[in-house]
Amino acid sequence: MLIHEQEYLTMLETAFNFLFRKGKPVNGSPLNQARHEFVITNGGFCLHCGMKLTRNNSNTEHIHDRALGGINKSVNKVIMCTSCNLARNKTMQIYLGSPSYWQGFPGNWDRVKKYLLWNAVTVDKGHNAGEAYPEVHQIFESILQSNGNLIKPPNHWFGRGDNCDLIVTKPKQRGFWIRIFDKIFGYESPQDTPVITVNKTNLLQTEEKKVKAERKILDLDDDFRHHILNAFSSIQGEIDLATFSSYFQLYLVSKDMPKQSLKQFARSFGIPKRRSFIEIIEDYFPNEIEYRRVGQTVVYISAKNREVFEYLADEDE
Ligand SMILES: [Zn+2]
Repeated sequence: MLIHEQEYLTMLETAFNFLFRKGKPVNGSPLNQARHEFVITNGGFCLHCGMKLTRNNSNTEHIHDRALGGINKSVNKVIMCTSCNLARNKTMQIYLGSPSYWQGFPGNWDRVKKYLLWNAVTVDKGHNAGEAYPEVHQIFESILQSNGNLIKPPNHWFGRGDNCDLIVTKPKQRGFWIRIFDKIFGYESPQDTPVITVNKTNLLQTEEKKVKAERKILDLDDDFRHHILNAFSSIQGEIDLATFSSYFQLYLVSKDMPKQSLKQFARSFGIPKRRSFIEIIEDYFPNEIEYRRVGQTVVYISAKNREVFEYLADEDE
């Protein structure tokens, strides 16, 4: 069992199934413009080489490579400098040979796993975390060096494109007086431990919220989210909002609750009448539900993260 295997089990299972069924890679597209822009305007650095990212020197990397079953969703994308992106692709060709990778499967599975884990940990935990997979790490670094690129990993960078969370590898140096007080009161400073912390204050969301009309997000009873997510957990794939709304009424009845529409249900928790269900999704389910508009009136909703729902479904047994 490799060090990060458990943590990235879903990714590895996806890759395994993809290679097993000789899958065809999905088409890729760049991370949406607003998020790319967000990383640039907030002073993003390339997570490998530390270069300050600009519109001209950066592009989108698919973290779990599409040739190994990676999906074309923002959760699988990150912005990095163009030359590190190219070096990552070259690393794959050197370490795994050329696609299609199912040709060497399952003999190449151990290598595929190491390569994928290296890809994921470098993005989520920083360039140096890649040292856990020395064969891959050395190939990558030697490519950068032969290109004359410096390798100065930054101590903070913007992570996966679904949230663009700011990831920080070391706590900031604390002020002089605070350190003195710590000494006096015997507080052990953790500042030298290279802890990896993910800043959950989601800057992107705050920005997006600022742009939208200021909507007040209420601190709602857990039942509100629970019932909507629970009803939603039995839906596979996309569903149009109108159908989900009818389904939700049946769901409520099955739980011995009064039959209500989604909006009536939301109102019973204090959400104002003027809120559309899309606004409710944006405000209260930003990490679980995504939507897609088709024309002016039709909206499809789908699960952002299947695991959340599988967990809920188990809980309900
Ligand atoms: Zn770079």
